[in-house]
Amino acid sequence: MRLFNTLTRTEEDFVPADGTTVRMYTCGLTVYARGHIGNFRTFISLDVLRRALRHQEGYAMRHVMNFTDVDDKTINASQQAGMSLRDYTDLYIQAFRDDCATLGLEPVEENPRATDDANLRAMVDMIAQLKTHGHTYESDGSTYFRIATLPDYGKLARLDHEGIQAGVRVDTDTYDKQDARDFVLWKATKAGEPTWDYGCGPGRPGWHIACSAMALRLLGEGPIDIHGGGIDLIFPHHENEIAQAEGATGRQFSRFWVHVEFLHLDHKKMSKSLGNVYNVQDILDRGFKASALRYALISVHYRKQLTFSFEILTQADAALTRLTDFLARIDRVAGGDAHPEIASRVTAAREEFRSKIASDLNVPGGLGVMFELLREMNAAMDQEGGRALGAADADLIREAFEEFDKVLGVVAVRRREEAAPPVPEEEVRALIDERRQARRDRQFGKADDIRAGLEARGVILEDSPTGTRWKRK
Ligand code: AMP
Ligand code: ZN
Repeated sequence: MRLFNTLTRTEEDFVPADGTTVRMYTCGLTVYARGHIGNFRTFISLDVLRRALRHQEGYAMRHVMNFTDVDDKTINASQQAGMSLRDYTDLYIQAFRDDCATLGLEPVEENPRATDDANLRAMVDMIAQLKTHGHTYESDGSTYFRIATLPDYGKLARLDHEGIQAGVRVDTDTYDKQDARDFVLWKATKAGEPTWDYGCGPGRPGWHIACSAMALRLLGEGPIDIHGGGIDLIFPHHENEIAQAEGATGRQFSRFWVHVEFLHLDHKKMSKSLGNVYNVQDILDRGFKASALRYALISVHYRKQLTFSFEILTQADAALTRLTDFLARIDRVAGGDAHPEIASRVTAAREEFRSKIASDLNVPGGLGVMFELLREMNAAMDQEGGRALGAADADLIREAFEEFDKVLGVVAVRRREEAAPPVPEEEVRALIDERRQARRDRQFGKADDIRAGLEARGVILEDSPTGTRWKRK
């Protein structure tokens, strides 16, 4: 597989260092609010990378994605909500897990959170190693990384040493740094903030140290194979992660760096601070399906900007409907001969799809191959009164589309949506119980209203001697 590596600014052959297991770390959500669909463009793109490595290239995965559950934003938001940091961030961790399931992201092997004991210890250990190597200094109870001690600082972001601006994201607090470019490793406690003391004095970890320490704790010593996130993380976050991990261990941190371009809305990056965001629930509330959102977010190459609109969701939905209609038509093929020319066409399309995906995740190219095959196979089914395509051919076609979807993950989400009742299943069951009770109480009007209410919402109740069952209208 070829992957564009931000570190070298070139596309390179990717093989995991041990030949079999990909050790990958991707930066996760800051859990102070529900993730927006810009965040999910990055997470879904990295999910497609994971799927391609796993299902297409055949590697085992050891994939870690963290939760940033302590920083200025999470602390402020939890205080405003009058909740403990833990309880508050738990809410958004759960919401994130729900959204991932809705959007068909494969669960990753590890989801560490910064404030767990083992992770805080790993951070403090890394800071101690940095101190031993002379990369740190303390000021007003906080510990900083002294950038001037690391000659190749700036190699990922390609910054010249003198021109580096103070980090815009988390280093803007008025802490007493000796050099504006230095960044904080451990922040001294401020009144009213959560605090931990594991040997760096009472305080809390900086954002960057959490990722370096958790990556090496859970993936083993560097270099790991792949580190990824959105492009806004290149500087300062990933640059600082490299400085910490390499400064502490003297070993390369990650061989490959993969960065996903932004999702835009109205010509601007979609971001919580600008307020131009939609989250997954906003999209569902407008009547769009999660499968269409997933499709739309992968339909442009991950290294190109994508502009969000409801129009792209409508188009994505139409493409998915075409796909599932086609698969339903394939399922109806019965009998008939096998045709070698169909088998070889399908084999060629599978090969083309694989090579598109293996070429720096060219998903739009892969979709093109898939729809070209669909068009040709539909045409074949239109010929000779349907006899140009037999059941054995249909099996091969189905297998090919299943293989495509292992990487894309869109049909699987659509199928799950179709299998789900139009009314939540627990609600249907509760209403069936309520109706049974109404009938026992001889409140037949009420029982009929329940049945009619459900029918209006697309659910039909069927009574039988063994009880009541529901089906879609
Ligand atoms: P955060 O919760 O801010 O730490 O961001 C989580 C992930 O979403 C990071 O990898 C960001 O780079 C990514 N991200 C944030 N905004 C966007 C956007 N508009 N488009 C694509 N990725 C984004
Ligand atoms: Zn990170």
